[in-house]
Amino acid sequence: MATFDYFVGPVKCSMCGHTCDDRSSNMQTKLQVRPLLSELRVGDCIDVNWSDVVSAGYIEISVPVRAGTLTILEPWDCWNCGKSYNWAMVEITECRIKSIHEIALSVESLEKANYISEECRYLFDSVSGSD
Ligand SMILES: [Zn+2]
Repeated sequence: MATFDYFVGPVKCSMCGHTCDDRSSNMQTKLQVRPLLSELRVGDCIDVNWSDVVSAGYIEISVPVRAGTLTILEPWDCWNCGKSYNWAMVEITECRIKSIHEIALSVESLEKANYISEECRYLFDSVSGSD
């Protein structure tokens, strides 16, 4: 049984400028209730337990105003130059993916996000200044 899906969107590498628009960006997510190694793209409806996003492998930064509408920071890899820990902001509105785009990890981008991937807790801590 699959344990994750991929978020797929046109994300541009900050190092080499290559744009990844397929699962080679390796943006894995366990957000869906039944992951199927699917490619989740802008416009797709996703099936999520909205009341328990944390159990899907995320750290909660701020509670979403409405269930089903939230923003997530996800790390991704550039296969072209090998850079790890590029970042993307995934916006979900009313259970549907509204946008996926690259973003620089900063205090500002963290403040805009509701969730960040659990695997990046140490990066989150270094940027947010908590310990
Ligand atoms: Zn690159």
